[in-house]
Amino acid sequence: MNDYTSQTKDNNFSINKHSLQAIFGIPGVEFYNSVIRDNLILLSARLKAKTAKCPSCEKRSKSVHSSYMRKLTDLSSSGRAVKIIFKVRKFRCRNSSCTQTIFSEQHLPLTQRYSRLTERTTHYLQRLLVEVSARKGEYISSLFSIKQSSSTCLRIVKSIEMPDYNELTTIGIDDWAYRKGKTYGTIIVNAINHRPIELLKSRDKEEVADWLKDHNSILYITRDRSSSYSNAIESGAPKAAQIADRFHLVKNLGDHIAHEIRLEYKTIKNSWLAHRKSLCQSNENSSSLSSGDLEDKSDSPYHKHTNCVNHRKQELFNRIHELKKLNYSQRSIAKALNINRNTVRYYFEMEELLPRATIYYNNYGDFIDLIKKGCSQGLSVRTIFVSVKKQGFKGNQTSFYQWFNRHFPEYQSKKRILAPLSSSPVVYETTRFNSMSHNRLVIHLTNSEWGVSKETGECSKSHILAEEIINSSLLLKNMREAYNTFREVLYSGDELKLDQWLEKYKSTNIKRIRSFINGINHDLEAIKNAIKYPWSNGVVEGHVNRLKNKKREMYGRAGFELLRRKVVLSNSG
Ligand SMILES: [Zn+2]
Repeated sequence: MNDYTSQTKDNNFSINKHSLQAIFGIPGVEFYNSVIRDNLILLSARLKAKTAKCPSCEKRSKSVHSSYMRKLTDLSSSGRAVKIIFKVRKFRCRNSSCTQTIFSEQHLPLTQRYSRLTERTTHYLQRLLVEVSARKGEYISSLFSIKQSSSTCLRIVKSIEMPDYNELTTIGIDDWAYRKGKTYGTIIVNAINHRPIELLKSRDKEEVADWLKDHNSILYITRDRSSSYSNAIESGAPKAAQIADRFHLVKNLGDHIAHEIRLEYKTIKNSWLAHRKSLCQSNENSSSLSSGDLEDKSDSPYHKHTNCVNHRKQELFNRIHELKKLNYSQRSIAKALNINRNTVRYYFEMEELLPRATIYYNNYGDFIDLIKKGCSQGLSVRTIFVSVKKQGFKGNQTSFYQWFNRHFPEYQSKKRILAPLSSSPVVYETTRFNSMSHNRLVIHLTNSEWGVSKETGECSKSHILAEEIINSSLLLKNMREAYNTFREVLYSGDELKLDQWLEKYKSTNIKRIRSFINGINHDLEAIKNAIKYPWSNGVVEGHVNRLKNKKREMYGRAGFELLRRKVVLSNSG
């Protein structure tokens, strides 16, 4: 290790009194001597006051009896440890009616009784050690030349006074697992400044109610939907408005919908099959696979994607040429747009963006009747390709397959199960339906943007299939509408809309939504408050996660009291 403070042996320095006061000064304390030796600064200090107050009778005395020295550790300075030799005077109590004859002068503001640290070092260590484990504390404190053993580190954390909260108005409350599945506690967060204020050992009604009784200034309490907290609040803080958590309400409705889908899975499947069947028939009737069909595919997912790509290319082309006009070099354009220089060169030399080589480049149109015939016979794509090739088709197999898959996406899958489109759509559609798991369907139902790329607007296969399934079922469509409107109501700020929503859905034929409404009616007041007030339990959830982190930081060995202090007092992560 480098020694940055080395000096020659006989070179002891001292600092003049004026500088001492400026560097180390503590009000009421006089530094009267100093020695700098190697990497240690030794200071001599005493209290300035001429008199001291007797702790028993509180009368002042100026009669010094004797003195003794105490050695204190102070905060280190420029890499050197700082020790203070504190001269403590003993005084005689001159009050004849006082039982105390001799007493020591008080130690503050320099230090506490019996402490080996100066007061400012204790404060510093308290703030540091509450953020780290005791082992880390031991190591970090040694780096700052104020080394404390790990057990002292724990003692220092436990010596911190817990703050007292008298002016609380709005809190959030939730449970946390001390040992998952076994013991649970309660965390209480100030919803105004988002700071955790208390950790309770249990989530029992009595303990929570007792805490609430001690803090009777509370007016609003956000909570999750469990009834135990609502009972505790009713008995501990009956005047406080309870606010249900919006996120949990929406999630709760989502769970009910998932349950309904699970129950009605067969019905949904059947309506999907019926829907697909009718679609196939109408396609056949309107002479599907006519050449007119080929041009009218602009709504297909494939074309959406292609248009997207072209649009993106056009944008890129425009931007590159804007910069080119401003005399930017190819290199700087590449840097500015964060793209490859070859791409820049490609567009740079182009005068206008040429349309992408179309999929009609090969003379597919000449063979469309032949292809259609092959399809109606249920031939494999390979067989169709061979027969087309024989008739003089110039393209290669890969481009034919690509073209074919784009224009007959249904047929492509048909080939795999070796069944032509019209003869056995049931097997094919069932396979497709089964590829959509019930959980995935719930995700798509409750989030219509799921599977859509935010950048390109491109839809995933799963998204397209889910939307088809949802649109084929009246039940799913109704549930999606109920879900979306409920979410809007919750965030609308208008409680009356909730009444309207409940009125609309109270006699719905969707069983699980009726039971959800039943649950809501038991907790209506708190849910209306959730619409009316801006607070939510999200911040409490965040602190529960933070608590888990703290628990792990101490390798899960922290006792409840230590954990409580770390959660409430820590200012970081
Ligand atoms: Zn006295």
